[in-house]
Amino acid sequence: MNLDRLTIDSARTAVEQRATTAVELAQSCYAKIQKEDGQVGAFLTLSHDRALEQAERIDRMAAEGKPLPPLAGVPVGIKDVMSTRGVRTTAGSKSLDTYVPPYDCTAVSRMEAAGAVILGKLNCDEFAMGSSNENSAYRPVRNPRDLDRVPGGSSGGSAAAVAADMAVATLCSDTGGSIRQPASFCGVVGLMPTYGRVSRYGLIAFASSLDHIGPLTKTVKDAATVLGVIAGHDPMDSTSADVPVPDYVADLQKPIAGLKLGVAKEYFADGLDDEIRHAVESAIDRLKQLGCEIVPVSLPHTPYAIPTYYLIATAEASSNLARYDGVRYSHRARGFRTLSEMYRRSRDEGFGPEVKRRIMLGTYALSAGYYDAYYLKAQKVRTLLTRDFQQAFAKVDAIVTPTSPTAAFRLGEKSNDPLSMYLADIYTVTADLAGIPGLSIPCGQTKENLPIGLQILGRHFDESTILRVAHAYEQASS
Ligand code: GLN
Repeated sequence: MNLDRLTIDSARTAVEQRATTAVELAQSCYAKIQKEDGQVGAFLTLSHDRALEQAERIDRMAAEGKPLPPLAGVPVGIKDVMSTRGVRTTAGSKSLDTYVPPYDCTAVSRMEAAGAVILGKLNCDEFAMGSSNENSAYRPVRNPRDLDRVPGGSSGGSAAAVAADMAVATLCSDTGGSIRQPASFCGVVGLMPTYGRVSRYGLIAFASSLDHIGPLTKTVKDAATVLGVIAGHDPMDSTSADVPVPDYVADLQKPIAGLKLGVAKEYFADGLDDEIRHAVESAIDRLKQLGCEIVPVSLPHTPYAIPTYYLIATAEASSNLARYDGVRYSHRARGFRTLSEMYRRSRDEGFGPEVKRRIMLGTYALSAGYYDAYYLKAQKVRTLLTRDFQQAFAKVDAIVTPTSPTAAFRLGEKSNDPLSMYLADIYTVTADLAGIPGLSIPCGQTKENLPIGLQILGRHFDESTILRVAHAYEQASS
């Protein structure tokens, strides 16, 4: 089976029409993983038994002529921050090296109930903290488009697996850009839904007020299909919103002519690579030719987004990661003499340097005497950033920006300079802070053949509009 260009749409159709079987699709992916993943490093754990059992079930349904669900037989991967019953889940951390969850993340069980075949768990930055996948405690991931470069992070394994055709789609998390930035670095589609749109039950928490689950796919239609499967209220997650879920795939057909698209000057300021600027500007021109009206907007608090994000995200992380003390969860050190030595050594041995750095930053920001100056102030700026978007969305239907100021950088290029790594998140963290949906689609490449991403941001719970704009752009440019 040729996996190149295989999409959810084409895979499901092939299984339905018996042109192939779900078992054959899964086996082709495993063969590809075996051949190529030694170099790329996308997968941490493979779940053969679970995949083949599900694939056989789908093939039986197809043979009996039963109606097939939307992801029937589609081989997918899951970022290793989502719990999978009976399948090791590490969050890219040595502290969870032997953790086998007793339950499934809701988004994962919804994927499986819709017929998806789960191939395995995907490499990521430790606890999803990073922008290059170099913070994985296991191994870095290499960008399939250029093996000397990073795939982006923290969902680097997930983006690389889709770009290298080792999986047709993957499920990932985005706290500050971790779906959209790797999508742009690897040349695939990444969708972060509105905060609350998709249940996080079973997601290993990084920063709970910012964590989202969403898909990485090869096409916009595939992203719409996955969102339709995973979206909707879940009684197991009190932050999941009880609002109707539209038919995202049907909505792709609505026209985009007449839509107002905002362009914010703050997203085209210093630090934006020239090649990226040109590619994004020509994508905007293309959308104008398709009948959209381009409207200048201002998001004046954007320059404060990075410090705000890195205060709130680290504060919440320091609190969420307190549970990994070797008692109920995570690695426990050996040969300790006292309880406090056990805690200290377990955490010291289990966590890598970036996770420790964030726990220290977050604990500092929350401590008495500094709370008002840092954490509380960051919360106030978060409100201002959200208001910027509210004011802009009073005038426009969506906002278009670059996804990242640069294309994929070289492995090792930024790993000794955490600040420059943090600054590269400038265009993605704002949507997480405001809770609005965003997606990244490929919009050309650099002279060195590296993919470039166009980001489209939308109103709360209006994923339909950004998917529709992205779909129209994709159709017009392919
Ligand atoms: N790069 C950002 C960080 O390191 C975002 C990570 C994410 O979205 N999980 O915090």
